[in-house]
Amino acid sequence: MKLHEYQARDICAQYGIPVTGGGVATTAAECRAIAEKIGAPVVVKAQVFVGGRGKAGGVKLANNPAEAEQHGKAILGMDIKGLTVEKVLVAEAITYEREIYLGVIMDRASKRIVVMASAEGGVEIEEVAKTNPDAIKKIEAHPTLGLLDYQARNLAFAVGFTDGKQVRQFAGIAMSLFKVYMEQDASLAEINPLVVKADGSLQALDSKIVVDDSALFRHAELEAMRDASDEPLAEQQAREAGITFIKLDGDIGCMVNGAGLAMATMDVVNLYGGSPANFLDVGGGAGKDKVKAALQIILSDKNVKAVLFNIFGGITRVDEVARGIIAALAEVNTDVPMVARLVGTNEVEGRKLLENSVLIPAATLGEGAQKAVAAAKEYAARKGL
Ligand code: GDP
Ligand code: MN
Repeated sequence: MKLHEYQARDICAQYGIPVTGGGVATTAAECRAIAEKIGAPVVVKAQVFVGGRGKAGGVKLANNPAEAEQHGKAILGMDIKGLTVEKVLVAEAITYEREIYLGVIMDRASKRIVVMASAEGGVEIEEVAKTNPDAIKKIEAHPTLGLLDYQARNLAFAVGFTDGKQVRQFAGIAMSLFKVYMEQDASLAEINPLVVKADGSLQALDSKIVVDDSALFRHAELEAMRDASDEPLAEQQAREAGITFIKLDGDIGCMVNGAGLAMATMDVVNLYGGSPANFLDVGGGAGKDKVKAALQIILSDKNVKAVLFNIFGGITRVDEVARGIIAALAEVNTDVPMVARLVGTNEVEGRKLLENSVLIPAATLGEGAQKAVAAAKEYAARKGL
């Protein structure tokens, strides 16, 4: 789950990281009021879940409250990369001499938490990684001791600090950001830019935190910050129904029980020249209601040209799934072809229930995938898609 900049900023502040003050506004008049209270030039910043807001016109400098109001009017309601701006952060504008990048991430390649810093801050780090990877210094935190003082100092040297006071301040901020990452169960904690002001001191101008969804159960305060625009509607509905769902770009909807089987299903669909429209795991012991919700979610994707059910009944009972499919088909009006490979517990009862339905039966996963790929092609041809 992503947090907004202003939420991430508030968390960073709790850990002693020097951030810029200011407030959140949803109207242009509020922008003006906040700017009046700050009594200095401000930046008006769109609070949307995309990087590069600056380039997209979502970050604007205002010299006085009237300008803050104008920028507020322009930015609120603006569309940035498909997301509508509903809130802006109005913060004191900082004058600075250089921009640094500082981030903490989970690095799968090294299986460590990695702290990264770069003197090429301000722009998106992915861009720096592509064009000038040597400009990013990476340090692996110790698996049990965490980020050690000397490592934080080495990062400070790597981004060019030599003055003792600056090295100490930078190292302190790196240690604090690492603590944010650990204690908030983040999968990413980032400050970009961290700026150096004329007096030599450092300040965080933009912070970003992504929280590990699997840890949200122990962070009620973070769950309460959720903004649903972070998630596509179908993923939101799936989460509420207790289904694991990830939308993909293909045209074959997959309904599977079990994450491993769902991945295998996607592989086999690919093997036979198809492309999955989603990853979907209804989970173990899925009953009628879940199956119905899952089918509705799959069919809400207009790209879907065929659906493949791949159910391996263990705890999940095949007849229960079959009832779910029948109930769903009674309510969902669709002519998308569906292929079912249902095996395991109560499979005989399950198949019997579906005998007179529109479902195309398949005995094996391979056969099911081939039939789904063929059905999708036939459907596209028939519809002229
Ligand atoms: P992002 O583009 O979405 O990452 O948004 P940022 O908050 O990082 O802002 C983008 C750029 O706007 C920064 O790299 C700065 O160049 C500029 N900016 C942001 N805040 C300030 C500020 O307080 N003062 C000044 N002068 N520039 C700022
Ligand atoms: Mn930024």
